[in-house]
Amino acid sequence: MSDCLFCKIVAGEIPADIVYENDQLIAFKDINPKAPVHLLIVPRKHYPTLNDIPDEEMDIIAEIHKAVKVLAKKFGVAESGYRTLVNTNKEGGQVIYHVHYHLIGGRQLRA
Ligand code: AMP
Ligand code: ZN
Repeated sequence: MSDCLFCKIVAGEIPADIVYENDQLIAFKDINPKAPVHLLIVPRKHYPTLNDIPDEEMDIIAEIHKAVKVLAKKFGVAESGYRTLVNTNKEGGQVIYHVHYHLIGGRQLRA
């Protein structure tokens, strides 16, 4: 989508601190980190919300979780612990309408 911030990052039109990428997804540092480690894992394909991923394309979710595992290890939080979360729509706190997983860690997170 031409007016989507994360599509522009995927396309290289807006800079981001990219920490991982493959043919299906990219991961970069959150610009406003809530913890010492705060990464966003983003499918290259534009889906506005989790609700919009067709059942036959849900493999992307497994790919994202594979990237989470790699990145948790790379950023040293695999054993200490981390949180993954997805905000969906207004009451879920979604601000950017391009599916993304947050990977947050590096400090004690509240329950
Ligand atoms: P959400 O509330 O789940 O939609 O989260 C959107 C996240 O994107 C927030 O944590 C923002 O800090 C982050 N964000 C917004 N713009 C950028 C950007 N240009 N580069 C990296 N992260 C961003
Ligand atoms: Zn997009």
